Amino acid sequence: MAEVLLFHSPYDDVTAWRARFARELQDIEIRVWPDIGARKEIAYAFVEGMPEGEFTGLENLKIIFSPGAGIDHLMRDPSLPRNVPITRNVQERMTLGMTQYVALHALRHHRHMPQYQEQQRRAQWREIAQPGAWERRAGVMGLGAIGLSAAQALAGIGFRTAGWSRGPHTHPDIECFHGTDGLGAFLARSDILVCILPLTPETEGIVNARTLGQLPEGASFINLGRGRHVVEEDLLAALDSGRLSHATLDVFRAEPLPASSTFWRHPRVTVTPHRAGNSNRLLLIDQAIENIGRLRAGRPLVNLADSRRGY
Ligand code: NDP
Repeated sequence: MAEVLLFHSPYDDVTAWRARFARELQDIEIRVWPDIGARKEIAYAFVEGMPEGEFTGLENLKIIFSPGAGIDHLMRDPSLPRNVPITRNVQERMTLGMTQYVALHALRHHRHMPQYQEQQRRAQWREIAQPGAWERRAGVMGLGAIGLSAAQALAGIGFRTAGWSRGPHTHPDIECFHGTDGLGAFLARSDILVCILPLTPETEGIVNARTLGQLPEGASFINLGRGRHVVEEDLLAALDSGRLSHATLDVFRAEPLPASSTFWRHPRVTVTPHRAGNSNRLLLIDQAIENIGRLRAGRPLVNLADSRRGY
């Protein structure tokens, strides 16, 4: 009997999925939510943005494929079954894109580009004292697939680089901090703070008045994790007071960022539209086919998230 894959995604084309499965896994039928038929026939789910509560009754679900690198969009749903494995989107291409984004914007902050662009608008020829990269301390929150790559790139450029994670890490050229106990010391030495954390109950709102106040005076901030890592009013207050010199933001609490948002017009803010990573969505089909094959062969799944940790 055919197994059924439940599909719901605003960003992916189901015809591409059907064509690939017809070639490589003919015994899987793809049904698009909400036309899902008998719920107990659903064995796999590739879902993003499905209304909450829709996992109810999917009693034979074997794998949930998260189209995102984070699984926060799934964890919010109280009907998510906690015993079904969740795989997430991990791609070298995305890691490289995110790493480039961090290097680009860290260098932009380091080399005073926002100030020079402002001076150019006023035809003002004025040199700003330039410290060496070795005098600038970068700090990356999250040392996972993406954060570690970004931290290594920053260290390679010459920044004195540290990382902060949940559990202990050791990496050459990166000073490693971890846990809530390590956060204060990590922040106090981060002139350029980069957030590449997953969104979990522990990390939501982690960039707030208290933590921003622990950064060195004039520090800058780059967020490419999730918008809800940041208490936006606290960030704006730190920018307005000049305590924070610049923020580059790829992610926001409300996306698309409303036209009324102060971030669009703030002189100390750079906005990009959640495109730091830019993964190849067609590779998500390969990842699903690979993991279905692994499950059927009794082999371990790849790119597994952990729903108890929330990432
Ligand atoms: P990983 O799961 O590989 O890594 C997560 C890292 O965060 C780990 O180092 C983990 O610590 C650390 N971490 C988790 N919780 C805590 C905590 N409470 N305190 C301190 N550290 C913590 O994730 P990825 O690197 O693949 O992706 C990270 C996030 O980036 C995604 O979840 C997503 O939100 C965001 N993202 C944004 C994109 C964009 O376009 N802007 C694109 C892709 C991802 P430990 O190592 O100890 O487990």
